[in-house]
Amino acid sequence: MRFNLQEGGLTPIQTLPPNRYPPGTLRISQIETIPKPPLNPNFNPNPELQQILAGKQLLLDDLPFILEEIQHHYENGCITYNKGISTIGKTSSCARCGNRNPQLFGSFTCARCGDMCTYCRKCLMMGRISECTPLIGWSGPPPAFDIPAKVLEWEGTLSDGQQNASNRAVEAVLQNTNLLVWAVCAAGYEYVRKGY
Ligand SMILES: [Zn+2]
Ligand SMILES: [Zn+2]
Repeated sequence: MRFNLQEGGLTPIQTLPPNRYPPGTLRISQIETIPKPPLNPNFNPNPELQQILAGKQLLLDDLPFILEEIQHHYENGCITYNKGISTIGKTSSCARCGNRNPQLFGSFTCARCGDMCTYCRKCLMMGRISECTPLIGWSGPPPAFDIPAKVLEWEGTLSDGQQNASNRAVEAVLQNTNLLVWAVCAAGYEYVRKGY
């Protein structure tokens, strides 16, 4: 894919045959600072897209939405386009898997940008990510989660041993330290069930 870089934002150019791209169009890896339009507070994002994308960085191929819809969300500040592969000097790095090993990159004549395109071989099984592939992220409002009123509430009684383990686990979480609870498999369940 190639983009037109204008003041205020990027416009993707739909895939064209090689060498048919208008002059001046760029691959995302060639854009130094990717413009981010401000969030439009009056824009209503597509809840499905919001749900799928929030907290992730995905390829266009991973998203069951047309490019126009993605672009519409970008223009209203809800979506970010990010570089999949960055190359500084001769060193490429993959933003998805962190690969920087030169032996794990390849190049091919890319039909999507009409040029030689470097791609990451390390995370190829997740869909090819190359110099012209934007990673698409969510920058709009977070999705509303339907959290039931009672979540993780339990009304049973713990045995002394369970209570001790539970207190220590809570303490470890609060202090952000490690804790090993050593007990037989399903000890918690068995003890509760038998009422020990
Ligand atoms: Zn990778
Ligand atoms: Zn390409």
